[in-house]
Amino acid sequence: MIDDHVRAEIDALNAATGLVLRVAPETATARRLRDHAGDLIGELGRAGTWTRLRRVREEADRLRAEALDYAHAVMLRGHPLGEDDGAARALARHLCERAGLPGDVEIIASSGPESFTRVADLIRLPPHADVWHLPVLAHELGHYVIHEARHVRVGDERPLRERAGTSPQNELIADCYATYAVGPAYPLSCICLRIDPQELDLAPETHPPWRVRVHTMAEMLRLMSRQHGTQQYGGAVESWIRPAWTELTGEDAIDPGRHTAPMPASAILRLLERHLPRARYDAGYGVDGAERVLNGQKNVRRSGISPAHVLNAAWRLRRDGRRSPEVNRRAMALLLEAA
Ligand SMILES: [Zn+2]
Repeated sequence: MIDDHVRAEIDALNAATGLVLRVAPETATARRLRDHAGDLIGELGRAGTWTRLRRVREEADRLRAEALDYAHAVMLRGHPLGEDDGAARALARHLCERAGLPGDVEIIASSGPESFTRVADLIRLPPHADVWHLPVLAHELGHYVIHEARHVRVGDERPLRERAGTSPQNELIADCYATYAVGPAYPLSCICLRIDPQELDLAPETHPPWRVRVHTMAEMLRLMSRQHGTQQYGGAVESWIRPAWTELTGEDAIDPGRHTAPMPASAILRLLERHLPRARYDAGYGVDGAERVLNGQKNVRRSGISPAHVLNAAWRLRRDGRRSPEVNRRAMALLLEAA
């Protein structure tokens, strides 16, 4: 009887990866899915007991979901309706380039919450994420960066991954990477769009409580200011992030409360400065230039404006009460241009 179950599982895996290989035959993602499916099929063949079958089946379920989501994304992209994720892909390309990584991640629209899954390196985002939602892409990409960033000198060491031993550590490093790479826009998007003020202290097994996460992001920015002798990071905490936090929570300070962080911001900053120094966001001229473009000014110099500048300019305008569909439309166009 168990053989029938194993056979059905293998057929389902073959069907899902077969679909991927038909819609996207030449992609690295399709090859990764096929290879991983091959490994799982080998394990299924050796499962032998119901307990082992159950364990392999869980992984096979995840792989099938990834394969089908990827196939849907590729098919949707071939349709005019699916072209809207260009800005998100441009941002991901920019961030990967700054992190010195090849960036073969795939971004797909999903009905569920945003997430990153490993086998196919898929980032799931809500469909039609607007410019104010896009900073969360940097967090999801952070999980990819943690996994892929190599030691500068020694061939195959993965220094970030070594430090991200537990899931809460991994999440906190992804938060800090996002803050490091896209600046104040990331904590602002968390506070203004994602955090439920009633759930600040909620501590699921996988994530540190929001209180700890936002505190660590703010600490990162303050430490970055100190390290680089500039007001731009710590200054943004005072002028943008803390006021938004107070508005959301009614609290004056961004306080971690009774929780301890799984890692201090200083340790994470040291890691990022050492292994990803080019990834650091720098407001420079770019954010002012981007703000002018988003305001509809003509003849603005575009060189020096990066996708991260666009996100920060959009958030500045939003916090100044100047959020509009026009700003979003211009931001999406500028993201494509700036990448
Ligand atoms: Zn995460």
